Amino acid sequence: MNKYDSEMIRTLLLKENFREVSNIEEANFVFLNTCAVRKNAEKRVLGRLDSLKGLKKEKPEISISVLGCVAKYNKELINHPVVDFVAPPDSYRSLVNAIKTKKKELVPEKYCEQYSDIFTSAFKTSVYLSITRGCNHFCSYCIVPYLRTQLRSRPADDILKEAEKLVAEGANEITLLGQNVNAYYYKGLLFPDILKKVSEIKGLKLLSFLTSHPADLPENLFYVMAKFPIISRYLHLPLQSGSDKVLRKMMRRYTREDYLKIIERARDLMPDVTITTDIIVGFPGETEEDFRQTLKTVKSARFDQAYMFAYSKREGTLASLFPTQVKDSIKKDRLQRLIKIQNEITKSKAEELLGKELSVLTIENGKNGQKVGKTKNGRIIMLPGVAKIGFEYIINIYKINGWVPVGKIKKEADK
Ligand code: SAM
Ligand code: SF4
Repeated sequence: MNKYDSEMIRTLLLKENFREVSNIEEANFVFLNTCAVRKNAEKRVLGRLDSLKGLKKEKPEISISVLGCVAKYNKELINHPVVDFVAPPDSYRSLVNAIKTKKKELVPEKYCEQYSDIFTSAFKTSVYLSITRGCNHFCSYCIVPYLRTQLRSRPADDILKEAEKLVAEGANEITLLGQNVNAYYYKGLLFPDILKKVSEIKGLKLLSFLTSHPADLPENLFYVMAKFPIISRYLHLPLQSGSDKVLRKMMRRYTREDYLKIIERARDLMPDVTITTDIIVGFPGETEEDFRQTLKTVKSARFDQAYMFAYSKREGTLASLFPTQVKDSIKKDRLQRLIKIQNEITKSKAEELLGKELSVLTIENGKNGQKVGKTKNGRIIMLPGVAKIGFEYIINIYKINGWVPVGKIKKEADK
């Protein structure tokens, strides 16, 4: 979401004749876009600001702005010695003007800003496109609804205009974004309707989406995913916990059984669907037995990959008031145990691909001169450096590097 927002802010700035420079020493304006979901992300912002002290001393006229969720979570940042502007998520239009005329400001937000008329550019062939902002769920651990406020869905016409522009500029994968993307609703159109409309854009090769909430899945979503080959059969569906007691306290609105039924249905309709998840360990009141329920669920769900976090207390959320916070040492231990089990599953899922022939779209440069590719079901595959970005290849998986399958090119897909 922040990557998309950064592109959107870049678009706003370029419209006002700002010019981008490739190294910070040449800049007159510096923008840090930030995340407040966990304490660690917030700490990184403070570290980054400290590292800018030298630059600010050498060049006092440089203007430094803190954008994003930390700007709203910690408005005190306006008193930080290097900070000139603090601009929360709904304030960017005012920020663009403020930096031209003012010296220091906590930039005021517009109510439920949508930035719907701002169309980003395709700086890469694989791009994001935000279709909703905010969230109405109020999961008890999560700060997002307080900082990004209520869910609003972007008008379908603007989504299509931006998607067409991105494809015309060379994008061939678009990932539709929302904190809870499947809750999209605009004038009678639901999320699967938007998926279908965007998938019809000529020239688009892969259409992905993030993040889905298990309690908001539209009835026909999996049918649409299964039917239209351009739509990625990739589902990022956060589980958060495998204990019904913890899920209830998290206010997630589904049970472990509901969740397992959903992924079973997805796999019935799309046998090659890739399913990834988010899991939090050490939520307040989580007992060893609750945690074992999570391990049990992870073993039966067999996720292709999981993003696993220790619970991080966020002031202002309901869970921060729960009296039975779990000790850091226990959270750490549970996180390591969970990661160990999921890593084994991730590896064995990757090994299932050995020897398989797959169609892969090259999306970006990877490490060591390799290229990064993506399959029609959202699996990341490493490709040799000769693969051209934006091209589709038929490849053969010949080895697994860590958990990542590595492919040999057989031929270009449409030759
Ligand atoms: N909207 C998505 C959903 O409902 O699952 C996820 C959005 S959230 C920004 C991304 C992930 O961060 C969540 O799925 C959750 O696992 C994690 N997260 C959010 N708040 C957290 C907290 N207080 N401590 C640890 N992890 C947290
Ligand atoms: Fe946070 Fe996602 Fe829950 Fe919304 S649905 S409150 S963004 S975890």
